[in-house]
Parts: sequence; C-alpha cells; structure tokens
Amino acid sequence: MGNHSEILQNLIDSFAKLPGIGRKSARRISYYLINSDEKVSRRLSEAVTEAKNRLGLCRICRNLTEHEICDICSDGNRDKSLICIVENFSDLYMFEKLNIHRGVYHVTGGLISPLDGIGPSSLNLNSLLERITGDGVKEIIIGLNHSVEGDTTALYISEKLKDSGVKITRLATGIPIGGEIEFTDEITLKQAFVERRNF
Ligand SMILES: [Zn+2]
Repeated sequence: MGNHSEILQNLIDSFAKLPGIGRKSARRISYYLINSDEKVSRRLSEAVTEAKNRLGLCRICRNLTEHEICDICSDGNRDKSLICIVENFSDLYMFEKLNIHRGVYHVTGGLISPLDGIGPSSLNLNSLLERITGDGVKEIIIGLNHSVEGDTTALYISEKLKDSGVKITRLATGIPIGGEIEFTDEITLKQAFVERRNF
C-alpha cells in the first residue's frame, strides 16, 4: 500500500509543479485520471510527448513552431521592421488574437528578476540586439507587463538599444499596474497597443 500512495503522490507532485495548478487541483486531476478510462490518460500523455517532440523554438523569434522558422517570421506579409517584444507564447497569442500587430515578435522567455536570480543573460535578449543590427528594424514595441520585472526588463532593453537609432515604444498603461497581459481584457490591451508611447 505504501508503494501505491508513493505512485499517487508522485503524480500529484508532477501536476502541482505546473503553473497555475495548486495542490488541490493537482489532486483532483490525479484522481480524475485514475478513475477515468485508460484512453483519457493515454491521450494526455501522447499529446504531451508529441508536443515535446515536434514543437521547437523559432530560430529568429523563439516562438513555438514545428519548423525551423515560425509561421509569423516566414510570412512575407508581416512587417519585419516592427518587432513586438513579448515575455512568452501566451502573450504572443494574445496579441495575435487581437490582430493589431502587423509586424513580427521577439519572445524573451521571461523577465529580469534579480531576486529570483534571473539576469539578462538567462533571457533571449542578446539575439534581439543581433536582429536589430542586421534587419532594418524601425520600431521596437515593448509588449511586456507593467510590473517591477517588466519595467526592469524594458529599461534594460531601452538602455541596450539607445544608440541603435531604433524607435522604442511601450504599451500604454491601460494595462493595470502589476496586471498581466495574458489576463487583460481585449479592449484594454488593444487600446494599450494602439496608444503605445515612446519609451
Ligand atoms: Zn519566428
């Protein structure tokens, strides 16, 4: 019996490590999977394995893709001189859903947070500088959250780019302070994008 509960505990722990899932939800999901038909858990594990095996990061922007270069970067109709910097795929997805950005993206993979030991070198920022020197970029739109970490990262980027001659803008503060892009309603986010300001 001890062995069984260890297996269950391991399953619960694995779910509890996922973002947005507390221990209570982790337990509910685990019980659900154990009680449901085997097909349910098989489909879940196959989906995870397939996503892990087939999805990678775009060589240019670090968006998720099945190819070397993502659909957005390889789309001839997107304006390559306009780069929107986002923290992660969910934020990128939010901007795409709004359909207001006709340029391309650059996914940082996180925000600078010295308290958590996350410095600029742990993020995808150096490749941004390379992109700018080579690509005829005209405007960088900082599409990062208005939080301490978002502000620190935005400042770092603007410092790094200050001699590049590239225009740097940031989303207007329609997004609540400390609020997250992922959870901002569409109208507010659209407005913040349209009313972006020089940074
Ligand atoms: Zn890309």
